[in-house]
Amino acid sequence: MLPRPTLYRDSALIGDVGPSLRKGVSVLVDDRRIVRIRPTSDEGALPPDVHIIDAGGSTIIPGMVDAHSHLTLPGGSHWIDRGADPPDDLLEVAERNGDLLGRAGVRWARDVGSPMAVDPRDGRRRALALRVRERWRLNLARPRVRVAGTWISHSGVLTGGLLVEADDRPSLLRAASTQLDDGADFLKLYLDGPKKEEAPWSTEDVRAVVDLAHGRGAKVTAHSGFLVGARVGIDAGVDSIEHGFELDSDAVAKMAHQGTFLVSTLAIFRSWASFAQTTTLPRFVSNEGKERIARRRERAIESVQLAHRAGVRIATGTDFGGGSLRANHLAWEVESLVEAGLKPWEALASATIRGGELLGEPAVGRIVEGGPADFFLVHGDPLTDPSALWRVWRVAWL
Ligand SMILES: [Zn+2]
Repeated sequence: MLPRPTLYRDSALIGDVGPSLRKGVSVLVDDRRIVRIRPTSDEGALPPDVHIIDAGGSTIIPGMVDAHSHLTLPGGSHWIDRGADPPDDLLEVAERNGDLLGRAGVRWARDVGSPMAVDPRDGRRRALALRVRERWRLNLARPRVRVAGTWISHSGVLTGGLLVEADDRPSLLRAASTQLDDGADFLKLYLDGPKKEEAPWSTEDVRAVVDLAHGRGAKVTAHSGFLVGARVGIDAGVDSIEHGFELDSDAVAKMAHQGTFLVSTLAIFRSWASFAQTTTLPRFVSNEGKERIARRRERAIESVQLAHRAGVRIATGTDFGGGSLRANHLAWEVESLVEAGLKPWEALASATIRGGELLGEPAVGRIVEGGPADFFLVHGDPLTDPSALWRVWRVAWL
């Protein structure tokens, strides 16, 4: 079945994410491309077989980027346990996640770690998300993905077996090469160590990985929950810091200077706080647990504020699957950035344009004639009310 040309009539439009929207706009789409963007009062001649959608009261927004996702994992309060589920179950989870992402207005997903599993086709162990990327390559309804391979971590940090552990420079470099040989688009280093007051590797060790990856045209990102690890990553020249829950003014100044991205994942703390109501797990329910979460949340918000003021480019992530969020929660992160002090349009730019910059995709975050029809429609105006992003009404690519 050939899709008919479609006209979205009389919508508001955020075509190029900025502080204001345009009203009374009609957008004509054909063959998954935007043919024309016109005032509704002057639509011009329409194709005879056009399908007209009355979009009155909606806002058309560029498809978003979830810059920190774990496609093969389901999230929820037992998110860590789920990593050990059978690989076939996790591939099934990825399909559900792909559906959830698309319906939530997410067009791009950057996978920052998936469990290793044996690939039945050649008997080799490699990161599961690489298979998801392959499956989705020709499926236009699925998000476009970039995949980091598996986590590269020091021993004694993450539950073993599903990821690569490396304790010295030679094994770190070997792990990095193997991930790239397997087909990872970029590398994910886990910069929290077995002792939280010590980074797992030296700046020189991490710089060797960065040089190796850059030499092969790949980027390096670093998980950082604590300041010591963030410092090592930033000094070593990683391309982005994930979470960055404990940044200080020196760290953000250097990030801004180098162009290091911060991928914020503040909504994690909102999710954990909600588990005080919905679970019986002591880490969420106990008073110490709740206080600890509140403290870490405050510090994380401060980090984002410092980064934003310093001019660091901030992209948004849910951490769904590798954390407790689910795949259709990116709106929560946009709201969290607004709570941290970003203007709603800046937070939306983080979820679109900045994410595109992080991926090296300049077309992301822009709705233009001749461009791909990668947009979705929400009920309301996310520039004055970011919660409108939860009210997805229609998605142009589904
Ligand atoms: Zn994660």
